[in-house]
Amino acid sequence: MFKNKVILQILDYYKDLWALSYTSAIAHWDLETYMPQMGASARGEALGRLSVIRQKMFLDQNFVSLLHKAEGIKQMTDQERGVVRILLRSLKYYEKLPSDFIEDFERLTNTATVIWREAKEKNNFKIFEKSLSKIFDMNKQAAEYLGYEDSPYDALLDQYEEGLTSSSVQNFFDGIKSPLQELLNKITTSSKYFKTHPLETAKYDKHKMSELNDKVLKYLWKDFGQNFRLDTSAHPFTTSFSNNDTRITTWYHEQDFGRSLLAVIHEFGHALYDLQSAPELEMTPIGGGSSLVIHESQSRFWENFVGRSGEFISHFKKDFDSVISTSSASRKQLSVGSYHSYFNKVRPSLLRVEADEVTYHFHIMLRFEIERGLIEGRFKISDLREVWNSKMKAYLGIVPKNDSEGVLQDIHWSGGAVGYFPTYSLGTFLGAQWESQIKNLKLKIKNYEQTEQWLEKHIHQYGSTYTLEDLLKKNEMTFNPSVNLKYLEEKYSGLYGF
Ligand code: MG
Repeated sequence: MFKNKVILQILDYYKDLWALSYTSAIAHWDLETYMPQMGASARGEALGRLSVIRQKMFLDQNFVSLLHKAEGIKQMTDQERGVVRILLRSLKYYEKLPSDFIEDFERLTNTATVIWREAKEKNNFKIFEKSLSKIFDMNKQAAEYLGYEDSPYDALLDQYEEGLTSSSVQNFFDGIKSPLQELLNKITTSSKYFKTHPLETAKYDKHKMSELNDKVLKYLWKDFGQNFRLDTSAHPFTTSFSNNDTRITTWYHEQDFGRSLLAVIHEFGHALYDLQSAPELEMTPIGGGSSLVIHESQSRFWENFVGRSGEFISHFKKDFDSVISTSSASRKQLSVGSYHSYFNKVRPSLLRVEADEVTYHFHIMLRFEIERGLIEGRFKISDLREVWNSKMKAYLGIVPKNDSEGVLQDIHWSGGAVGYFPTYSLGTFLGAQWESQIKNLKLKIKNYEQTEQWLEKHIHQYGSTYTLEDLLKKNEMTFNPSVNLKYLEEKYSGLYGF
């Protein structure tokens, strides 16, 4: 795997950088799960200092010259090439963005997240407008520092998915927009369309729900509890400290139990990628996944093709029954069919995180168009609320009544992330391609251990060795959105009877 002397020297030095990232990751995880609120300012300071130390260590002259030396090596293994590729990407970031710019951005986004929370609570975009304006200005500036060919937005997209461009994302959305609109139209005009489902408001017992989540994870992964655990946070996420210590979180709303459960299964998909990354890649820059599109293809694969499946629902039906309080749902509502229609409902809604498999992508298109328009200077932050609402009306036929359900709903911008959203849709579409690969081989997804082995062999073991494009090549695939479109069409025409 790693033989080249220069690479071995790089990897040896890298272990210190890895240790810093490892420590920061634990501090972040703790901040999101168990830290008492008042610990926030010291934690922020510690994390800020750790990132400055990491940058300094990364820019160590000897290390940088080793990296440049490695750049010129012709004969390398795929893993060695992966190490060099990933480290040169970080180097580009550290070298092109001035350190006071990075610091200012860090400070701005730390404060902006607090301001965003207040604005969201008070339902008032005006409170957040100035900060958001600065965040977009600084992102524009970052794009200039980082460089781009066609659009400054390309430089930002590339930060989240290597090589992603505005025009490739635009092509993707152009191709899926009308088929999804037609499908949504057929669903909402079908006689089986429903606007509410009793299970959405059925209350559940939080303690029982958390036991169910554990049981599901144990069912999907026999070492659950040994190399991987579940906790609670304000928003579900996955983090990985090593391939023997991966953490996921979920949330509990005390009703609408599917939100908690599907979040668990979604995050399990992310966790599995890191858990099954080859042990030889531990403590190297390519351990675990770094492509957000590949990562999301894993989480969506488990969420959509396992969590929403009839087989899975039938298996856990009795457990679902016992979680839901009988006073808030009648017996009839607790049938396999009822659970299935609940897990697979399609309905235009205001919040991205609650969106279904069909409408989800309109939420992403809207964000992509807004980000690109702002970065390319086609409209201003002061137009944002109006643009948001008119696009919601055009795509989903509904308009938010207030800013919290509209322009203020996502945390991403307040944290400085512009260019992140498209990876969600691209990953979801790729997830359907993995499912079709597995099906074509006549393997049964519900044979979870076998499915996990397949994913390990074709995706996970490589960690970040390959770019998205190269991983697909290795699997003799190309990105093909028609696979997911066909799956959605077949599934929902069956469910909604058209
Ligand atoms: Mg995800």
